Amino acid sequence: MNETATTDTTTVEGIRAEIEALQEQLTAKKSELRALRGSTAKAKAEPKTCGCGCGELTRGGDFLPGHDARFRGRLLTAVDAGGPEGEAAITALLARPTLLHGATEAELRERLGSEQRQRDAKVAREAERRQAKTAAKSKPRAKKGGRVDRTEQQQGTRSPSVAKNGAAIRNAAQQHTDHGAPRSEGIDAAL
Ligand SMILES: [Zn+2]
Repeated sequence: MNETATTDTTTVEGIRAEIEALQEQLTAKKSELRALRGSTAKAKAEPKTCGCGCGELTRGGDFLPGHDARFRGRLLTAVDAGGPEGEAAITALLARPTLLHGATEAELRERLGSEQRQRDAKVAREAERRQAKTAAKSKPRAKKGGRVDRTEQQQGTRSPSVAKNGAAIRNAAQQHTDHGAPRSEGIDAAL
């Protein structure tokens, strides 16, 4: 029993001794923490060359205020443009995770050259439109003929029936007037 007295925490003396030891440890840790804080604060205060490449010095941050957004915009434009510069921009973005804004490498790769693709698609669409125009110009008679046909169709379905109905109504009305029947009945019969 006496052999374990030095670490005995069941007696008042033992507990006091332990508290003293713990307080010493605490003091040591606190000074350790102060030293650490001091060193990181010093490191942060160290001026750095701005990450955007403007060549100016920051007060310890990676970028001068606003230069990170500008840098990010420039890199994304390069990614959209594609090519080796776009590849380099992806590498640069991945090296600065704060500029990614949550974007993954896969998403960046998807954007790579997207502007060029959009331009290509636009060119293709315009070429298609020009081709369609040229095709329409090469056989304008067919189109004009179609338009005339349509008019004729309209006339064919409208005018004769109107004329026919008009004639029938006039005929019937005439007949019924001859027989002394009311005009409206004659019209209904004719229709
Ligand atoms: Zn800068």
